[in-house]
Amino acid sequence: MTRIVYVNGAYKRYGEAAIHVEDRGFQFADAVYEVIEVLGGRLVDATRHLARLERSLRELAISPPMRESALLHIIGEVIRRNRVRDGIVYMQVTRGAGPREFALPGPDVLPTLVVFARTQPRGRADRLAETGIVVKTVPDNRWERCNIKTVMLLPAVLAKDAARRAGAREAWFVDSSGTITEGASSNAWIVTAKGVLVTRPLGQEILPGVTRATVMDVAKAEGLRVEERAFTRDEALRATEAFITSATNIAMPVVTIDGQGIGNGLPGPLTRRLRSRFHQMAEISAV
Ligand code: PMP
Repeated sequence: MTRIVYVNGAYKRYGEAAIHVEDRGFQFADAVYEVIEVLGGRLVDATRHLARLERSLRELAISPPMRESALLHIIGEVIRRNRVRDGIVYMQVTRGAGPREFALPGPDVLPTLVVFARTQPRGRADRLAETGIVVKTVPDNRWERCNIKTVMLLPAVLAKDAARRAGAREAWFVDSSGTITEGASSNAWIVTAKGVLVTRPLGQEILPGVTRATVMDVAKAEGLRVEERAFTRDEALRATEAFITSATNIAMPVVTIDGQGIGNGLPGPLTRRLRSRFHQMAEISAV
């Protein structure tokens, strides 16, 4: 449950927190966001998440609402005021509010900042990881700047709904050449018969996942081989393991894709290993 939300300089009760009706985040999805895992009241991989937030803002020329140290202070306050031990903290920065106009506003329009936090006991994801999840593939109909973490999430919302209606928990986007780009809200990975981890290289077609980067660090420390290359849906169906990475899922086994079992249909040993070592490798910082 979220009790307190930070909005533009004030800590508001959840039911009373609000932004302007002409906020550009609301009207144009002219906004970026981040989700950071909270573990034992501390932040997981904050440096990488805040660096990505800064990059997203820079790519869209939205002014940072404040210095990183001030943002971290607010993040800490929101976590404490919501008494979150294990869960997530969400932050969103929009280009601000003003009379609806496509043209970008001048410097007098200040960015909007919203921060909230929510408890999400780790047990649920851990139980899900015991059985693994089902994935459905869908055509990738997103724009060409998926490396920016914008709130323009309608394609992901619809893809996840199509997945849910097919009994799947995550959708994997497939581009026009038949290769998997990424999940609707995660990065996509497979393991080959030779035990090589494969995930798409960074580029405009995917979000540079923070969990993806840290899982790569874990893989290297474990002496596992990682190949950054595109893989097709067919190759994924023939893989020995598949999994997704995201801040809330860590490394989550994928056991079925489009109705077909992956490997022996159970969470794979390498995915389990990456998942269990993840928090030893991640940066865990107090706020
Ligand atoms: N790709 C997309 C499209 C996402 O929405 C997310 C999660 N926000 C990810 C990948 C995973 O990113 P991260 O590991 O930083 O949570």
